[in-house]
Amino acid sequence: MDTLWAPWRMAYIGGDKEPQEKPAAVEVGPDADADCFLCQAVFDTKNDQQRHILRRTKSTISVLNKFPYNNGHLLVAPHRHCGRLDALTETEQLELVREIDHWVKILEQKMNPNGFNVGLNLGHAAGAGLPGHLHWHIVPRWNGDTNYITTIGSTKVISQSLDALWKILMQ
Ligand SMILES: [Zn+2]
Repeated sequence: MDTLWAPWRMAYIGGDKEPQEKPAAVEVGPDADADCFLCQAVFDTKNDQQRHILRRTKSTISVLNKFPYNNGHLLVAPHRHCGRLDALTETEQLELVREIDHWVKILEQKMNPNGFNVGLNLGHAAGAGLPGHLHWHIVPRWNGDTNYITTIGSTKVISQSLDALWKILMQ
């Protein structure tokens, strides 16, 4: 991954607001994984803002990436804890592609990027941080966004900017 300029972190550096507490773990279904943050998001229907959940459809969930490569980086996943493309049903395939399309349009409207990287990392070797639960990355790109040195931010910095971004995308 190229180094990206992250000016959106700047406003939060030196801020004194404490990061929000993590939502408590919830019980998940029999085929889900209690340690998987996507399964937790699917089964915890009461903390969408805290978890930065953007939308749920019948078989998909969309969330902001907690460790974004760029402003507006979000994830689209099936509800099911499933790590194989060939295990998806046709309904899931259709809903996932439609959901990716939906968020590309919303990000275009709200953030005016020049392009997107949309992709899936299949397996540890390909860089998947969570290989057991498929998730597509949507990363908005702006001309010149690799030309600057990344501003190194703390977790606190990132979580505060994610709150602001969640509110923008939910409007
Ligand atoms: Zn999962």
